[in-house]
Amino acid sequence: MSTVAAYAAPAAKAPLERTTVERRPVGEFDVLIDIKYAGICHSDIHQARDGWGEGIYPMVPGHEIAGLVSEVGPGVTRFAVGDRVGVGCFVDSCRTCEYCEQGLEQFCVKGMTGTYNALDKNGEPTYGGYSTHIVVDENYTVRIPDALALDVAAPLLCAGITLYSPLRHWNAGPGKKVAILGLGGLGHMGVKIADALGAEVTVLSQSLRKKDDGLRLGADHYYATSDPATFERLASSFDLIVSTVSAPLDMDAFLSLLKTDGVFVNVGAPEEPNSLNMGSLIGGRKTLAGSMIGGIAETQEMLDFCAAHGLGSEIELISADQVNEAYERVVASDVRYRFVIDAATI
Ligand SMILES: [Zn+2]
Ligand SMILES: [Zn+2]
Repeated sequence: MSTVAAYAAPAAKAPLERTTVERRPVGEFDVLIDIKYAGICHSDIHQARDGWGEGIYPMVPGHEIAGLVSEVGPGVTRFAVGDRVGVGCFVDSCRTCEYCEQGLEQFCVKGMTGTYNALDKNGEPTYGGYSTHIVVDENYTVRIPDALALDVAAPLLCAGITLYSPLRHWNAGPGKKVAILGLGGLGHMGVKIADALGAEVTVLSQSLRKKDDGLRLGADHYYATSDPATFERLASSFDLIVSTVSAPLDMDAFLSLLKTDGVFVNVGAPEEPNSLNMGSLIGGRKTLAGSMIGGIAETQEMLDFCAAHGLGSEIELISADQVNEAYERVVASDVRYRFVIDAATI
């Protein structure tokens, strides 16, 4: 065991504060990672504040981790000291179920082990990336290509893969019209990735406030959903809509924007239920779907794709003592587009 510095929520709804946590010894297949940067995901805030219930405290959030390998266990074959690596939303899974075998560890039937706010196989709580070091099994560690700076790569480990996976699964590419609903931490990566995949990209945002950003990031079109004319103008337009919004939506209105056989995918997770008229799906053979992060192999594919296309996250780098203030700004949608903690300040 080793004691490392971290920022943790000591209890539900309490502000985060500097503390220490114990990391397990480096096991046979483990890598010790010297964390350089950790992104702040909106789900960190939900969990630190116990918005989803059953939080484990003290809680060290952070599942967008970028750093350097500083020690490897004797059985490690994929990484060496000094390698640039990342860790995303989970650090283990059963490894034997049909989904783990297909590289869909995020859907492990026994449940993936979250990078924080979870219990590992030994029943010990996991602590996330708002920390100086983390010990992770090499099979749940990915390589960050040299072409990506570590600070802008960190948010790719959740925000990047959350958008990359559905865009690939539903074949965003040349000839496809794709809408990204919401231009925040998730949505801005959706715009970049969908554009790089060759799709015609439209941002649907509440207002036109971020229009210049959206077009700069790669969108071809940008419309405000607060304007009813948007829904008339864009009726039956899209092959794919990816919603990053975590509030209930007028589903019938949004489904009307899909072409026949179009797909509406949720990656945002509204806490409230949503309702819709089934007629909105039946007419036009439309699909309402969901997607959650991606497996380890696909996360590596996403990082390689982003490196090849020069796609990092747009970030605001902060020191660790600004984390509580940053949380307030995320809740107020006042960040362009991801806060990243400089772990050297922890
Ligand atoms: Zn996340
Ligand atoms: Zn499994």
